[in-house]
Amino acid sequence: MQSIDTYNFSGKKAIVRVDFNVPLNEEFQITDDTRIRAAIPTLKKVLSGGGALIIMSHLGRPKGVTEKFSLKHIIGRVEEYLGVKVQFAEDCMKAHEQAAALKSGEVLLLENLRFYAEEEGKPRVAADVTEEEKKAAKAAVKESQKEFVKTLASYADCYINDAFGTAHRAHASTALIAAYFPNDKMFGYVMEGEIKAIDKVLNNPARPLTAILGGAKVSSKIGIIHNLLDRVDNLIICGGMVYTFVKALGGHVGNSICEDDQIETAKAILAKAEEKGVDLDIRRDVVVADDFDNDANTQIVCNFEIPDGWEAMDASPASVEKWAKIIDESKTILWNGPLGVFEKPNFAKSTNAMAELLAKATEKGAFTLVGGGDSVAAVTQMGYADKVSYVSTGGGAMLEYLEGIELPGIKAIRE
Ligand code: AMP
Repeated sequence: MQSIDTYNFSGKKAIVRVDFNVPLNEEFQITDDTRIRAAIPTLKKVLSGGGALIIMSHLGRPKGVTEKFSLKHIIGRVEEYLGVKVQFAEDCMKAHEQAAALKSGEVLLLENLRFYAEEEGKPRVAADVTEEEKKAAKAAVKESQKEFVKTLASYADCYINDAFGTAHRAHASTALIAAYFPNDKMFGYVMEGEIKAIDKVLNNPARPLTAILGGAKVSSKIGIIHNLLDRVDNLIICGGMVYTFVKALGGHVGNSICEDDQIETAKAILAKAEEKGVDLDIRRDVVVADDFDNDANTQIVCNFEIPDGWEAMDASPASVEKWAKIIDESKTILWNGPLGVFEKPNFAKSTNAMAELLAKATEKGAFTLVGGGDSVAAVTQMGYADKVSYVSTGGGAMLEYLEGIELPGIKAIRE
């Protein structure tokens, strides 16, 4: 494995997998270019080192060639940030000549990789085909994927993976291609930053280590909770998922969100927490509403005694105050998932307060990592994105990494 900082790019062509999966409006204008900006340091490093760039990415979830998902819409923005002209290959499988002609300092962007089913290695078949036909189509795409990977690899001398957002996928451009560059593969700066930040929390935290897990569903976070229970000093479970725990402990949750099929899982988590000496402190005051509406009537009650017809929407100020003390004493803090229904302004108070608590803790010297679409949105909306230590760009990838799963995109570079 090589390092982008020490690799000699002079006279070399680097094929770089970035995450240019940016949101576009109806006129195909970029509405948020965070992901493009994030990749620029890696791309500039290759150019300043005397290399040429072949940039590849996916955009959206096309089921074939679709104008809406063409990467040509973003060429101008990449040119603006790189300060160089960006050539475009309209078919990522037919870029041989353009790639061969690239000189030092030049840039070629390949069209959306997902215009080909081979990128994901998943067949695109109609819903009504038989299981046999599905199996045959899957085998066929896996076979043609080999040629797809080989073609991409043939364009370049070295490979850089800088797409953390897709690192949990074993796709052609995120994992399989690495095998063609056994001595010339490396992480880009986005990947390096993400890996370093999560490793700092999971494997090398300054203590006390506190994790705050919110969001709606316990079912999507079981693996993470188990992995974190082996590592944390404090685990704050909040948001909608706490009501599955409340019910598991015999509480009355009223109309609050609750996954009845996860009650046994919640009991197992509570037992593990007790065994590990982690106090989950599930009982607390919460803000409940008589409707799932921003202007609903509200009251504050104990979350074990929520009246019928009322549902929990947010953590109470008293709960936030209790957590503030824990956070203030922590040296490493991980936050994933909102504390309430933060999309509705009247129920965003505890989530916003958490963003502020993390910013304050960071200022005091704690290492703070925020991940997951909703919590990232909260810190960004509150203007704290650059006041926490690290904001993760990868939703699903971060969750799998936190579960302790070795991500295919990381493994392919390391092995
Ligand atoms: P997740 O995708 O599991 O991280 O959940 C994010 C969602 O959880 C957001 O849309 C929040 O509105 C929702 N959420 C947080 N707290 C609650 C709650 N008490 N009741 C219902 N939904 C909630």
